[in-house]
Amino acid sequence: MASTKPPSRVQTPARNVNHVVLGNLVLKPWNQAIYPADLVTKDTDRLYVCRWCFRYTCDAGAFAQHMRVCEHRTTPPGEKVYDHGGYAVWKVDGQDHKLFGQNLSLFAKLFLDNKTVFFDVATFLFYILTFTDPDPDKSDTYHVLGFFSKEKLSWDANNLACILIFPPYQRKQLGKLLMGVSYKLSGWDTDSGGHIGGPEKPLSDLGQKSYDRFWAERVARYLLQEKKDGKNKSKSNPGESDQKKPATPKSARKRPLRETMTVEEIGQATGMLNEDVITALKTMDVVKTGASPKKRKMGRLVADDNAVNIRKSDVWAWAQTHNLALDDPVRADGFLGEWAPKIESEEEERISSEPG
Ligand SMILES: [Zn+2]
Repeated sequence: MASTKPPSRVQTPARNVNHVVLGNLVLKPWNQAIYPADLVTKDTDRLYVCRWCFRYTCDAGAFAQHMRVCEHRTTPPGEKVYDHGGYAVWKVDGQDHKLFGQNLSLFAKLFLDNKTVFFDVATFLFYILTFTDPDPDKSDTYHVLGFFSKEKLSWDANNLACILIFPPYQRKQLGKLLMGVSYKLSGWDTDSGGHIGGPEKPLSDLGQKSYDRFWAERVARYLLQEKKDGKNKSKSNPGESDQKKPATPKSARKRPLRETMTVEEIGQATGMLNEDVITALKTMDVVKTGASPKKRKMGRLVADDNAVNIRKSDVWAWAQTHNLALDDPVRADGFLGEWAPKIESEEEERISSEPG
């Protein structure tokens, strides 16, 4: 799904779908549909889409019948990789679930205009965001709220190809949740052969706006956690995770107001590309340009061209103005399987039980 390719509208005549019925929601598409012409006629008033598997039909009766027997009615396809507070992320391999990937792409195209819909979904992974009400009396099923796709093998180190939170669920910080998950799953901070990356570019206007804010928050969180810990480390101290909003600590006054760091340094700690780190710093407007080489706490000279002189008091100010929660919305303990955090006590137990 190279975004540089011309839209596939050329091959597939545009089709107008006036309304999409997704489960019990009625949505107005933002873009022209490219559903196959033999199944969706021009100027369709209502297209019915299954809220679990994204199969579609113009026949209300067939839709109602399908909803009773959908194979994904109780569980999404794929493997659960994240679960916290009722929100879960499921990894769906396009090779194993081709029809699901295609149907999800067709639906997403109604609300995404900068990407071509692809039918060759086998080379992609889809990460589906679901919500299940923790109270079983309130809901007997789950809701798909959005997703992101990712190329299995990206030569450009893209950790995300497309992202969409479905319109009724937007403005609830869920995009940030998926973006955070996409960085974690890139595995840049593990030994599993991951890499630093970012979303496929160019981004849409809406995507750029969302990422600008996400990156700024990610870098701010890193800089403020580092300051809070008083050490140059990216891992937060679990004992300090209760603090919800930044408040300028008294000790901050004793620290230098400016600190010279390199863009690479921030990128290594956050898994972000240099260009995205720079975007984040510009978004927050916390860099004094023309930073001169200066001694850091480590005692090394920073003479790199990518050295930036960061006004940390401005990072605090930005964080307070924007109500930044210092706790990352993506919870480390929400990851499952290979992404689950290692439990140190078990490690120690295992090591100590090994024959000496
Ligand atoms: Zn279905």
